[in-house]
Amino acid sequence: MTHNPRPLVAGNWKMHGVRESLGEVSEICAAVAGGGAGEAEVVICPPATLLMAAAQICAGTPVTLGGQYCHTQPSGPFTGDISAEMLKDAGASYVIVGHSERRFGHNESNASVREEAAAAFRAGLTAIVCVGETRAEREAGHALSVVGSQLAGSVPKALSLESLVIAYEPVWAIGTGLTPTPQDIAEMHRFIRGRINEQLLGQADKIRILYGGSVKPGNAEEVMGVEDVDGALVGGASLTAKDFMAIAGVYR
Ligand code: PEP
Repeated sequence: MTHNPRPLVAGNWKMHGVRESLGEVSEICAAVAGGGAGEAEVVICPPATLLMAAAQICAGTPVTLGGQYCHTQPSGPFTGDISAEMLKDAGASYVIVGHSERRFGHNESNASVREEAAAAFRAGLTAIVCVGETRAEREAGHALSVVGSQLAGSVPKALSLESLVIAYEPVWAIGTGLTPTPQDIAEMHRFIRGRINEQLLGQADKIRILYGGSVKPGNAEEVMGVEDVDGALVGGASLTAKDFMAIAGVYR
């Protein structure tokens, strides 16, 4: 399947994984090196504690790594935080910003997500900016307007095309086994591309817009086959190489 822009399948391990889990990274690297993801780019976002060891495993393979959050500052008195520069130094090329578990669990606003994305750009990382509505917002018919304001507030104006990926992740679909209909995904991705086109002066066809929220081996083909879906951000199903590669294998 030829796809433009190049598809991206990213695994968000969240707060899962200890050194023993690095075996999954090795398996993913071997499978991708063997053509198991076809033309797709594969990114693993493990907990920060595993980044350096994972980077050693991924070296020389097509698999790249990402962080799950970054602070807006390069360094400073911010106990427990991690900067984009530190992620880069540990071997990351990407960082997820604005995941709903950060927006809700850590009270991150659109403005702070925008600064995190700008910090990623400053450090030479690609920001995967997450947006998505809650169930109540969708039921009230506000899904598009909510995502529209998240895009307007969370995407820095100065981002280059190469340093931006958008992930549409309806909050109600994350970890629940529920997914929107293919029509709803198509409508939202078309809407996001239109908005990004306005923000980035007509170049949104080069931006990858991922779908995230309960992507599994059983629904990957349908979800990733939807128009304007350029790949997936995968949570639970990225924790085992077997399931993750079954998803990335859609692009073989
Ligand atoms: C996520 O947390 O980014 C995610 C998409 O999770 P899950 O695939 O488990 O729904």
